[in-house]
Amino acid sequence: MAKQKGKSKRRIKSLDEHTISEHDADAAMSPQSLSERGVKIPAHRLSAPQDNLEDLPKVEGMVVGLYPGGAMVRIDGSQLLCNLAKTFRPPAGASPLAVGDGVTVALTQSQHADGSLADDRDRSDGMIIARSPRETLLARPQPTSAKRRDEYKAETFQKVIVANMDMLLVVVSLKKPKLRRGLIDRFLIVAERGELQPMIAINKIDLARPDEEFSAELAERSVDVAQCSALTGEGVGELAERLAGRRSILAGASGVGKSALVNAMVPGANVLTRKIRSKDSRGRHTTSAAAIYDLPAGGMIVDTPGIRELGMDLTADQLPWYFPEFEPYVGQCRFNNCTHTHEPDCAVVVAVEAGHIPPRRFQSYLRLLETL
Ligand code: GDP
Ligand code: ZN
Repeated sequence: MAKQKGKSKRRIKSLDEHTISEHDADAAMSPQSLSERGVKIPAHRLSAPQDNLEDLPKVEGMVVGLYPGGAMVRIDGSQLLCNLAKTFRPPAGASPLAVGDGVTVALTQSQHADGSLADDRDRSDGMIIARSPRETLLARPQPTSAKRRDEYKAETFQKVIVANMDMLLVVVSLKKPKLRRGLIDRFLIVAERGELQPMIAINKIDLARPDEEFSAELAERSVDVAQCSALTGEGVGELAERLAGRRSILAGASGVGKSALVNAMVPGANVLTRKIRSKDSRGRHTTSAAAIYDLPAGGMIVDTPGIRELGMDLTADQLPWYFPEFEPYVGQCRFNNCTHTHEPDCAVVVAVEAGHIPPRRFQSYLRLLETL
């Protein structure tokens, strides 16, 4: 018995030690600050006896939804309702848990993925005891300081929208609805900041195909492009092939055919009936839940709230956060409120001219600024 305990302790430690620096460890979140950061732990949970966690079987899973006090975790295709263990210590600086996070769960009960019992609301299937380090994360900045200089520094708290994805699949159409070019640029910087490979899927090519000008524009941005029609099926197989084995986040304006494309690529997905839920099967309100679609050839498409707004509600003062390579220079501009366009003694422009900032990145900054 004692042997087993030691083993699981080591395992938990090895999951955390990559991400918790000594500085972070000082700031390791107490349950109090956890709730400040968006995951609320009900009072009765804080005092619940969890002393024998180490004796429980452990499994690894992926977070697919969040609710106050815990998360829905997908384990081998079924979903378990999990609370946060009292000992759970996420690294500081970003949302403690997000959709896509890999977590270690101690199974507290037999698995009731369907959770059919009505008086079951306070029972969980497991306790989340650790979170794996994130490979990638798509986040929006949450400035905690009013001082512009400090706003988007690395230590800014990040609201993580989704973690551990590979690709950002941006679906657009040329007609019905009409193409919004600005939106593509926005999603491209979102992808870059999130270290996700972007892919543009031009859907509805039965209605209109890209002209030379638009094709050239995309080529200039050296972004992968797929053309398809969810209606006729043209190009859908090729798109599915290119997504196979990857974890892709679905993005794009309403009406471009995202649901139709998922239905065409994932047999039985039935997207309309699998709308993103705001309540789980036990009636708890989820604050954020993703729909996960498994691709037949492996990999998944993740449809999660918060992605769309990321493209739409970008404001000029948030823009620098998406260009971390500007950060060493912005403090050296002559003017505090320098927009790095026409101002004299702009350190960013100087850095571009000296080759310290890639011209391509500066171009996309200027292009985006224009649209905001
Ligand atoms: P979403 O809001 O991005 O999920 O878009 P939907 O998948 O709900 O599609 C919006 C509308 O476009 C629906 O009426 C679909 O039938 C239609 N649609 C989707 N894909 C295509 C396509 O490739 N060609 C045409 N002509 N219509 C499509
Ligand atoms: Zn400047």
